[in-house]
Amino acid sequence: MPSAPDDLFERFFPEPSGHEPLEPGEGSISREEAEKWLAEGGKKRVCGQILLHAASRGMSGVRMSPVGRDVVIEGRSGAGPVRLLSFPLRFRRPLFDAFIELAGVPGGSELPPETVFHLESETGVVALQASFLRGLSGPEVIVKILPDLRAGISLDSVGFNPGQLDITEKVLRKGNGLFLVSSPGPEGVATTLFSMLREGYRPGLRTITVEERHRFRNEGYIQLDRRQAEERFSGDWSRLAESLEPDILMIEHLPDPAALADLLHLAQAGTLVLCGIRRFNFDRALRTLLTLDVDQFILAHVMRLVLHQRLVKLLCMECRRQVPARPSLRMVGERYRAELERIVADASFYLPSGCLKCDGTGYSGRMALIEMIPFTPGVQNIVASEGTLDEKLSRLMEEDLYSAAQSVQDMLRRGMVTYEDVAPFFR
Ligand SMILES: [Zn+2]
Repeated sequence: MPSAPDDLFERFFPEPSGHEPLEPGEGSISREEAEKWLAEGGKKRVCGQILLHAASRGMSGVRMSPVGRDVVIEGRSGAGPVRLLSFPLRFRRPLFDAFIELAGVPGGSELPPETVFHLESETGVVALQASFLRGLSGPEVIVKILPDLRAGISLDSVGFNPGQLDITEKVLRKGNGLFLVSSPGPEGVATTLFSMLREGYRPGLRTITVEERHRFRNEGYIQLDRRQAEERFSGDWSRLAESLEPDILMIEHLPDPAALADLLHLAQAGTLVLCGIRRFNFDRALRTLLTLDVDQFILAHVMRLVLHQRLVKLLCMECRRQVPARPSLRMVGERYRAELERIVADASFYLPSGCLKCDGTGYSGRMALIEMIPFTPGVQNIVASEGTLDEKLSRLMEEDLYSAAQSVQDMLRRGMVTYEDVAPFFR
């Protein structure tokens, strides 16, 4: 069954390789109509649909360039270029600008740098890399479709293990509450938050995202830039909520964790809130949450899930080199010690090297490792209890921790990661 972009495309220019569009048949859009659509401000949408269409057909990229008195958008496929759409030359600049806007490049620069961005459709997420060039006969755009993300990002492709996936889907189905995603750096957070958002989203829900930079475009969401949103609402999330009344609010990065108190109250009032914070490890993320200046009973019953994720680099298996030295387990927490001692006794340890296959980096790809605690009744009791912070923390870790330790230990045994890169999981 054709997806929405295919549909649009069939109606647009039904003939894939010809130089002229076919006679407009029943339900198809004539060139005049297409022009009218562009003229009415649908340029960005048209460009987005073209890219999604090309990706869905397995093309490797799209090029927009002037040809004679037309501006032509062609797709690149194994069999050579395929003309997708053409417009009168006067649309060249508006289309060029539409691609710039679509890629999320800040305005002002005449020829923006190469930019990676993502587009989201109902079937998944496509990663793209746009180059803006000045050709001999005018501006050109070349968009490469990056293969890695073509299959789409969903919860199970982010790095959740099956148990984590199951419980995350279950709590997201409640459709409200606060979900916290902590990580030591910015990488990978948006991906996880967006995959959770997709799981919690239902058509008709008013969805606001506050992002560091726009990457995952979705027609169904209202997508804001964090700095602009902070200026407009003086950094006050309740004011944002009062004006925009979101059913779902996703904030990629909350610079001031004290503002989590406001977000808890929003969630208490019924909004589904997904929020990213930067913390070094899971323990720090939990401490931040448990020391918030809020009623612990509200905290216990409005929080749904707190997770920490860390991206680890995967060693290039072609060139990794074995090291005889055994890692020191001095910093390892008691709960992990026995298993790690076994690993240290049996397994080999590796360091990155560098070869042609990995461009000399020694690494080949990254993977998110996730630890989480869902707010089950047992967890709620502990959080709302009278204990000290440290008592609560140690009880929480025993109650319902969905640890990354198992995956990390497997990767260590197989020599896929350096010990140094995964050591923070064992503190
Ligand atoms: Zn290598």
